[in-house]
Amino acid sequence: MPDDLFLKIINREIPADIVYETDEILAFRDINPQAPTHILIIPKEHIRTMNEMGPGHTEMAGKLFLVAAELAESEGIAQEGYRVVMNCNRAGGQAVYHIHLHLLGGRQMGWPPG
Ligand code: 5GP
Repeated sequence: MPDDLFLKIINREIPADIVYETDEILAFRDINPQAPTHILIIPKEHIRTMNEMGPGHTEMAGKLFLVAAELAESEGIAQEGYRVVMNCNRAGGQAVYHIHLHLLGGRQMGWPPG
């Protein structure tokens, strides 16, 4: 098994504030939130980076976005607005090598990102 921090969260080897779970997807609050709402939405399948995604992942990738929209609604940030982002590799700012969508909201976002 790869050394993957988020697999440890999936397997309950380390604790997390889990807000959504299906057989395929898990969502939990970021340990170092960058906004009042900061949730990570991940597939349970180990995929290191967005570069490893293929045609077999289209349904799962779509679900990540639908879960983000659903959680934005339940967090009360859907109407005001929010951001979803997936970082890829070093220049993209990726630190954990198990793909994840960030859902950020509850404050005004800047553009362009730093
Ligand atoms: P990345 O930079 O890879 O796009 O994002 C990784 C995110 O995972 C960061 O926002 C970081 O705060 C979060 N993170 C790192 N370790 C943990 C952890 O043990 N638990 C939780 N809930 N989040 C983590």
